[in-house]
Amino acid sequence: MERLTDIGTIKEILGRHGFTFSKALGQNFLINPSVCPRMAEAAVGSVESERVGVLEIGPGIGVLTNELLQKAEKVVAVELDKRLLPVLSETLGEYDNLKVVNADVMELDLHRLIREEFAGMRVVVCANLPYYITSPVIMKLLEEHLPIGSVTVMVQKEAAVRLCAEPGTRDSSAITAAVRYYCTPELLFHVSRGSFMPAPNVDSAVIRLMLHEPTVTPKDEKTFFKVIKAAFAQRRKTVLNSLSSALSLDKQIVRGILETAGVPETARAERLTLEDFSAIADSFADRL
Ligand code: SAM
Repeated sequence: MERLTDIGTIKEILGRHGFTFSKALGQNFLINPSVCPRMAEAAVGSVESERVGVLEIGPGIGVLTNELLQKAEKVVAVELDKRLLPVLSETLGEYDNLKVVNADVMELDLHRLIREEFAGMRVVVCANLPYYITSPVIMKLLEEHLPIGSVTVMVQKEAAVRLCAEPGTRDSSAITAAVRYYCTPELLFHVSRGSFMPAPNVDSAVIRLMLHEPTVTPKDEKTFFKVIKAAFAQRRKTVLNSLSSALSLDKQIVRGILETAGVPETARAERLTLEDFSAIADSFADRL
């Protein structure tokens, strides 16, 4: 439905429903007609199955949803802003393979939703994410070990760089390590700020995370992530200083943990690999 990217059409529909954009909910709607077909193709085409179910977060007025509905067997779209429900009934009312859920995605039991809505389907996630919760949403999708094949999302350009960075490089951060543990990330294409209404202050990019079995096997996942977060808490410090201050541990104890793990105490977190973090976490778990 091309008209959903047309500014005049959007203003007309939203005006009729008395809708005003909420900055707090990250409401920047796509108006560039070439973006949604590419995102939908990348998401649905990422898994080899005739039966693909898509979980969308934040459908807005349904511009991306419309593309997904034409390619997937079913779409479940989770929208927090209940003012958009009558709008979606109008713009996407013709489809019988859509379910709109009025909820905060961070509060939802996604295991249950997937089990109840997508029986027999391969499930992927696709969204133009509200930027204020980019990292929490991505971490929720990954940490909960959901039965999903991929996550194709629009995020701020800077977040895309961090999420897709190679571990051990300058751009890497705690979320880089977490993402690499669960998936292989790929930056698909850039999207300029003028592609949205209202235009945000930053450019964006679409990334795709292909899920896989974790490549390292720490004894305890919770400790593994605790160590990663602590190591990056003060990324300019040495791993010795960062871990001891973030975990409130005596330096001598941390020194012993790093020695057992075979990680130099003067290293910076951004230089460490997943194997290094796993070794530190195992040595940490053994000691404490
Ligand atoms: N998909 C639409 C598009 O591309 O034009 C809208 C994207 S807009 C960037 C983000 C959408 O997420 C908005 O519709 C907003 O209301 C919704 N949203 C914000 N926070 C949410 C949350 N916690 N759970 C579900 N949806 C949320």
